[in-house]
Amino acid sequence: MSRVLKPGATLGVLGSGQLGRMFAIEARKMGYRVHTFSPASDTPTGQVADVEIDAGYDDLDAIRTFARGVDVITFEFENVSTAATDAAAEIVPVRPSGHALHVTQQRAREKSFLALKGFPVTAHESVASLEELTAAVSRVGLPAILKTASFGYDGKGQHRITSEADVDTVWGLIGHQPAVLERVVDFTMEFSVVAARGLDGGFVHYGAIENQHRHHILDLSIAPARMPQAAIDEAVRVTHAIMDELAYVGVLAVEFFLARDGRVLVNEIAPRPHNSGHLTFDACVTSQFEQQVRAICGLPLGVATLLRPAAMANLLGDVWAGGEPNWAAALEVPGVKLHLYGKSDPRPGRKMGHLTALADTVDDAVARVLAARAALGS
Ligand code: AMP
Repeated sequence: MSRVLKPGATLGVLGSGQLGRMFAIEARKMGYRVHTFSPASDTPTGQVADVEIDAGYDDLDAIRTFARGVDVITFEFENVSTAATDAAAEIVPVRPSGHALHVTQQRAREKSFLALKGFPVTAHESVASLEELTAAVSRVGLPAILKTASFGYDGKGQHRITSEADVDTVWGLIGHQPAVLERVVDFTMEFSVVAARGLDGGFVHYGAIENQHRHHILDLSIAPARMPQAAIDEAVRVTHAIMDELAYVGVLAVEFFLARDGRVLVNEIAPRPHNSGHLTFDACVTSQFEQQVRAICGLPLGVATLLRPAAMANLLGDVWAGGEPNWAAALEVPGVKLHLYGKSDPRPGRKMGHLTALADTVDDAVARVLAARAALGS
């Protein structure tokens, strides 16, 4: 029997945000049907899917019913429980697997996996009490960052410890819950490698994408990253090895630090398409979302070549602070593309959309995307 899910098949997505939306756009372009499942309606994914199911992730009967209506299930955010993916997997393939999700959805587990398998990470320790934290601080060293073990993303649930006097306060700030203490990395750049692995073990990657954050949220992504080729090669090697280790099927992003001493260190793994890969939509032969469709359907992966230097700027709800943004002014900048996710409530810090700019050089792409974003306020 062929393992390929041909166009016309139905792809199920757990989660309904912008990642699911862009996945659904690519899937529908290729003639697939898309069903989405989340505890909400009129969602970014639901607006472009064929079917939108509004139910909770802990409603395993609803998950099973959803699974019976699709040919394969994927997820677009990592806080889906493995109970949900296990229930789905009784009925249809889940790609990436529940195992890959389990390892990567919890910081402490992910860090232990990386360290155990010999991947490069900063010094760290898992802690579950104030006493353990105090002892860990002396071994890991300062400055350090304390991160909650679970449900952390975009810098949520993490606090810096610069002196031993901070330990008590920071333990209180994260709510006395299991956490990971990490030595602060002295880095010159943050970057990511977005890659896909197929059912047959095939591997493609988008090279290194440079990432700049503001208030711990991704602000700008730039491709190709302006860093030494040897460090890029090492990061790609590490990404490939992580995917092989997890027998991964689908798209994954590894976020890295480029340390001042030239080493590359893994910060975290996202078991899904990634915000830094949004520029692949406009700038690459095959986008990360098409790659996800291909991988989970057992199709050959696409060529990942970057067609032109590109930069992506996130549009947070803050952009709406002065009223409706001036879209026309932004789109007057040459080479700029607008993506909005169909969200109606532009709360500060909420990812509402992004701009991508293409140009002949990386520096021009950055200048264009920044000019376009600035023009939104004009
Ligand atoms: P995270 O939610 O773990 O991705 O962290 C969000 C951001 O905090 C990262 O993108 C970095 O800018 C910063 N950060 C996290 N961990 C470290 C670390 N060990 N050393 C230096 N900066 C860090």
